[in-house]
Amino acid sequence: MTLDAVPAPVITALTFVVLGVLLWLFLTRTVLGRGFAVPLKAMFVTPETAEYPEKPRPVAPRFHGRHQLNRYADGLERCIGCELCAWACPADAIYVQGADNTPEARYSPGERYADDYQINYNRCILCGLCIEACPTRALTMTHDYEFSSATRDGLVWTKGELLAEVPPGGVDTPHLDREVRERGLNYYGGLAVTPPLLHGGTYQPAAAAPSARAGEVIPHGELPEPGDEPHDPATVGDPTRQRPGDAPR
Ligand code: SF4
Ligand code: SF4
Repeated sequence: MTLDAVPAPVITALTFVVLGVLLWLFLTRTVLGRGFAVPLKAMFVTPETAEYPEKPRPVAPRFHGRHQLNRYADGLERCIGCELCAWACPADAIYVQGADNTPEARYSPGERYADDYQINYNRCILCGLCIEACPTRALTMTHDYEFSSATRDGLVWTKGELLAEVPPGGVDTPHLDREVRERGLNYYGGLAVTPPLLHGGTYQPAAAAPSARAGEVIPHGELPEPGDEPHDPATVGDPTRQRPGDAPR
């Protein structure tokens, strides 16, 4: 039986089968073919169109967006200018310049606050190590990912841009120490992180004021009992001062 005896439709069908097998082998068994298979498959997938930016899609709960510097409920800033976030950053993207709080200008409950705070999003890889390092939860990451910029300068966010809004009922910083005490708060919490006497204020033992906030600010601090001696301001801020039990220097 010669090929001429085979009906033309059969030959056509066999040709298509052989070509199909060769194409399948090419697309599945060769590197080049597997590369071509990707766009070929995509051609038959129904496109999923996100209506961005009109309808931004929700992000995962633990999504790392841009940072935020948080405040306490009364408006004081949580950041104490310790620079731990800057030291933890693998991309060297954070700059912190700390300064001392004063009785006339209190920005944070601690002794220090961040006078200048910058995050350089040209460098930041949004890894989140900085927020893990922050001891006061001052620094957190939001779900906001819309902070692109056409310039490098536009990607350097300053404290004013990073600082959270003043909460309802709170007051923008700076506060007066006197006002803070009048609100019934004692941020010194018995540990006198800022010696009140040095600032000309009246010393108030933590027990004389609600200590819940002091416990929040100094989570592991020991609050003094009523009747305890006022804290000696000389024990704070002088790293060379000998304390009982210290080894001789
Ligand atoms: S998210 Fe990562 S890279 Fe960005 S500032 Fe924080 S530690 Fe640095
Ligand atoms: S954000 Fe946190 S870690 Fe960074 S300086 Fe402020 S308190 Fe320290």
